[in-house]
Amino acid sequence: MPLSRSQYDEIMHEYEQRRTRARQDAEEAKIKVREQIPEYADIEDRITDLAMECAGRVFEGDKTAVEKMKKEIGDLTLRQQELLKEHGFPADFLDEKYECSDCRDTGYTNEHTKCHCLKQAELRYMYRQSNIEEILQRENFDTLSFEYYTDSESERMKEIIEKCRRFADDFGKKYENILLYGDVGVGKTFLTNCMAKAILDKGYSVIYFTSMRLFDTLSRELFRYDENESWDVQKDIYTCDLLIIDDLGTESVNSFVASRLFDIINERDLRKKSTIISTNLSFEDIDGRYTERNFSRIFGSYTVLHPDVEDIRIRKRRSAS
Ligand SMILES: [Zn+2]
Repeated sequence: MPLSRSQYDEIMHEYEQRRTRARQDAEEAKIKVREQIPEYADIEDRITDLAMECAGRVFEGDKTAVEKMKKEIGDLTLRQQELLKEHGFPADFLDEKYECSDCRDTGYTNEHTKCHCLKQAELRYMYRQSNIEEILQRENFDTLSFEYYTDSESERMKEIIEKCRRFADDFGKKYENILLYGDVGVGKTFLTNCMAKAILDKGYSVIYFTSMRLFDTLSRELFRYDENESWDVQKDIYTCDLLIIDDLGTESVNSFVASRLFDIINERDLRKKSTIISTNLSFEDIDGRYTERNFSRIFGSYTVLHPDVEDIRIRKRRSAS
């Protein structure tokens, strides 16, 4: 995706601030050195004079002037380095120090190539954006536990988890959608988070919304004055690599919600962009609830996963008491 224009600008602004900081720090370092080592300051002024003199001689036609100046400046620079060392300053004390030396905090290694640090920054931004950064630390395929399932449930869950894992592994190679359907407390959100984390870690863009927040955001966008901004949110929802709609059915339905839901699912299907929906509604329920459009055709492309187990949150509580 990935990021919208305004999000990208925000990151670029941060880079600009880093460069400014590096420049200011270097300026301050220079002032400090000039104050503490008068000879250093003299040499620096001498170098400036030399460059001026040299320019004048070149102008008058002296072809050896540049070579001579280079030699002289080279000697003076060496002396400056010695002075720094004698006064206990590190050799790089006066350099501009960038957080990323590969791109000197520009975000790009050349005109069109993003630096690894920018790609990472975008990814972090998306984690933050998707509101699940923290949850993903706790809930991922590595932290799965079957402790609270009975044996037969555990078998069933293992199958489902295997499918989720495959979805994440094949992501980008295969177009697939998932409908996680089941009662409250069977681990739908947990499974969704596991997939989100694995797919984010592969560098894909993921947007996570609870269904309530999704429609809330979209309806707010309708009343925004900034047209570009509103386009961006909608565009990201249509084009991100993976869209997760958690808890579909908890929002209050009206014709706006029904038609937007249809548009999102339909648009993403046309673009072959994957979507994960978690819900406690069956297909029939969904068709009944969002009556205005025909959802069943679109849901043909969805893999249904149905964790049919008892509410593990209740079990956890029971075992804790
Ligand atoms: Zn960089």
